[in-house]
Amino acid sequence: MLSTEEIKRLSDEFETKPPQEILKWALDTFWPEIALSSSFQTQSMPLLHMASRIRRDVLIFFLDTGYHFWDTLIFREQIASKWQLNVLDLYRDTRWDAFVRQHTRTLPMEDPNLCCFLHKVQPMQKALKDMQAWISGIRRDQTSVRSQAKILELQEDGLLKINPMLNWTKADVKRYVKENNLPTHPLLDKGYRSIGCAPCTVATGLNDNERTGRWNGRSKTECGLHTDMFQHKNIAEVKQDFQLDISLRK
Ligand code: SF4
Repeated sequence: MLSTEEIKRLSDEFETKPPQEILKWALDTFWPEIALSSSFQTQSMPLLHMASRIRRDVLIFFLDTGYHFWDTLIFREQIASKWQLNVLDLYRDTRWDAFVRQHTRTLPMEDPNLCCFLHKVQPMQKALKDMQAWISGIRRDQTSVRSQAKILELQEDGLLKINPMLNWTKADVKRYVKENNLPTHPLLDKGYRSIGCAPCTVATGLNDNERTGRWNGRSKTECGLHTDMFQHKNIAEVKQDFQLDISLRK
């Protein structure tokens, strides 16, 4: 168990280290109680490639929200099989099935915070419950929230979040993908630069920020995995802090 001071010192030290070195430290230090999360889009490829070259059997969480593009699910299958990755799909708690079925079409539009909490935040919290560390692929150049992140972040419940790609830019990702001849998500060529769930993702212009296509036209920029929402452990807290719109029914 690292002290808060050690975490801060290491995090500062890692600011000048390449992602491969941070990943190696993380996997050596916390194995086997460590997992990586990935959305299996083009920008996720470098992290998946680096981590699986250090440990082929690293546990990778993929959030299967039920709202993905078919192309994403196929791409996830292809990469997992080709690179022999240890991928575990995460799903929403079955307690919410009846509610979500009732609001399937409207939920992402009418209440994206609730939708993201049920399909992303809660399943990830549950999957990480017995882990010591969580590797995420966020970068500072993606959103204003991410620009404030640290390489090592201790969560309230003791989980250590590790962000090895934080200092990489869009150009670094492009260069690594090219140099290593990595596969790209099939929707990239159609203008989808950041790919999440289908109802909340649109194609964007070549020079637009890659996150512009996510929750386009709305103030929402994050699903909640990398914001304060992740510290909320139940729907009542989220409902109060994120002003959920749809009234919950049993
Ligand atoms: S990204 Fe959209 S569809 Fe996916 S969980 Fe969030 S609100 Fe729902």
